[in-house]
Amino acid sequence: MRALAVEPGVGGSAGLVDLPGLPTDDPAGYRAYDGQLLVETRAVGMCGTDREIVAGAYGTAPPGYRLLVLGHEAVGQVRVAPPGSGFAPGNWVVPIVRRPDPVPCASCAAGEWDMCRNGRYTEHGIVGADGFARPAFVLDPAFAVRVPDSLGELAVLVEPTSVVAKAWEQIERIGGRSAWAPANVLVTGAGPIGLLAALLARQRGLATRVLDRVTDGPKPELVADLGARYDTGPVAGQGVAPDVVIECTGAGTVVLDAVAATGPSGIVCLTGLSTGSRAVELDAGGWNRRLVLENDVVFGSVNANRRHYEAAVSALTRADPAWLRRLITRRVPLERWRVALDRRPDDVKVVLTFEG
Ligand code: BGC
Repeated sequence: MRALAVEPGVGGSAGLVDLPGLPTDDPAGYRAYDGQLLVETRAVGMCGTDREIVAGAYGTAPPGYRLLVLGHEAVGQVRVAPPGSGFAPGNWVVPIVRRPDPVPCASCAAGEWDMCRNGRYTEHGIVGADGFARPAFVLDPAFAVRVPDSLGELAVLVEPTSVVAKAWEQIERIGGRSAWAPANVLVTGAGPIGLLAALLARQRGLATRVLDRVTDGPKPELVADLGARYDTGPVAGQGVAPDVVIECTGAGTVVLDAVAATGPSGIVCLTGLSTGSRAVELDAGGWNRRLVLENDVVFGSVNANRRHYEAAVSALTRADPAWLRRLITRRVPLERWRVALDRRPDDVKVVLTFEG
């Protein structure tokens, strides 16, 4: 079976490989994977994390292996399901990316591996476990999320949506520390994470402004069609101070501006990973003073547990399927993976496909 793999840490090492130890195309051979689902991959989304891994800047191979199979945003259909697994052939499923650490820490023991305390978790396609950029994979039913047939291939958006579903859950928990009636949300960055964060903001009935640099392409209209406002900046000085900011760029100055932009009891959720280390000047004392005097909270949020995947499925099921389809701007067969990793001006989400 062909898989898209990289040697982590080695830029430019990505390529299609035949890996041993992957499920065969023969369902009879499946018996070796006792108790597991055999899943045929339908689509795998590519994201900034994949580009970082391909550039050699992130990612680790499974212990004892040189290569890591890429792909963590996946959707597939069950081909073989063991009796009693709760799944049947044909079911659409999304694999959960992170697996709990083996200790386990208090969070992983409680099924909240997204909050892992000791960093010994694994992440399929990212950290220490193979991903799903291959025509089939085996999956522990405990880490399979069932998605309705009506969503089908669009469920490739479940993983990135799970990340923002977690962000929203955490924001609402923090908001619940006092009487809280948020009205205005600012989302910085109109990539897939920003757009999905805005979708969830609109589903909550909140006035939403999405900030990005680009003035054309599909993003302004995608934002407008959510009933949100698209803006090309700057972060501050746009009228009302947001109650909530979801920062999705990881750009240092945008992060600092976002923190400065909130109103009293403002909540800033950081979801973007910064790449470079460009120094910016910061008045740390003034920053501290502002956070204290306004009861502001700035927090980071990564990954998602089952609860968030289920919230993501529910949010996507309620969304306009035509809008979701417009997020997938290119579908590229696995063999042409290189093209999928290009950044084109009109791209929102590019997915690998596995037909045939
Ligand atoms: C994934 C998360 C993961 C994070 C850090 C993101 O691209 O969506 O599931 O935890 O990268 O590895």
